[in-house]
Amino acid sequence: MSAASDAAAAGRPLGEFEVIARYFTRPARSAGLGVGDDCALIAAPPGLTLAITTDMLLEGRHFPAGTDPHKLGHKALAVNLSDLAAMGADPRWFTLAIALPEVDPAWLDGFSRGLFALADAHRIELIGGDTTRGPLTLSITAIGTLPPGYALRRDGAAVGDDVWLSGATGEAALALAQLRGAVELDAAHAAACRARLESPAPRVALGRKLRGLASAAIDVSDGLAADLGHVLERSGVGAEVALEAVPVAPALATCHDTALARACLLAGGDDYELVFTAPPERRDDVLRAAEAAGIAASRIGRIVAGEGLTIRDAAGNAVPLAARGFDHFAS
Ligand SMILES: [Mg+2]
Repeated sequence: MSAASDAAAAGRPLGEFEVIARYFTRPARSAGLGVGDDCALIAAPPGLTLAITTDMLLEGRHFPAGTDPHKLGHKALAVNLSDLAAMGADPRWFTLAIALPEVDPAWLDGFSRGLFALADAHRIELIGGDTTRGPLTLSITAIGTLPPGYALRRDGAAVGDDVWLSGATGEAALALAQLRGAVELDAAHAAACRARLESPAPRVALGRKLRGLASAAIDVSDGLAADLGHVLERSGVGAEVALEAVPVAPALATCHDTALARACLLAGGDDYELVFTAPPERRDDVLRAAEAAGIAASRIGRIVAGEGLTIRDAAGNAVPLAARGFDHFAS
């Protein structure tokens, strides 16, 4: 009988090693890899570049207390996969550091199942980590691979490039607004928005297909305007975005508070879409790549000389954006 089942049978709380053994240990896919040594070992694929990213989620800051653990397991990995997608990397391995206020078997079971369901869908393998007692905190480091020179970076946008957006932004932020009582949504739209907030789908397939095609890319975690702004800053260019070209999800289109809906669209976070640039002669290739990846891509603007982002409405007037992002979401 394992230590974990000993503890469970005895009705005492699981210790750190028992938690790892019971919830986070799976057969290694490749010899020499897996959980349980002092370090994780990676057989780095010859000739490939490693892309490494870390994201941390804190209860009360990045997700509310009482969040469904299955969805939290999904999201903790999804935000890291989104960063790999933004670089065009193939997901390979990840580590998990987790602080738990208490050892709750039902919570750990839900969390680990949500985590591994997404991991399996993207063929990414847990190779190590740490657990400790403390305020609920989840930190994942994800490692991907890609051919040298093919990473999608933030500094490659060139004057004349198109600006593209995968999917649609704003629903996750609208879900947060609803949770905070700032807006009422009908049941179907509320469910759609909650799904976007709690179970984001990282655009890994699209990122992979944009290798050698996009000139720059970033994932939308802090809001479309803010994240596109990072690309512009790093590339030393500006952009003009046409508001009517930015796709509007049904829940936003029917939201009575149009100012809130617009703020969610342009400045809401947690979307995990990709915003990227590509030369205009590659438009058909971009559309084919998106179709093959199973996600819509919308051409929302173009890169211009200068600096900063200008968003124009149909009449050509600049749409004002709050200086510090969107105050509804300031914590
Ligand atoms: Mg990112």
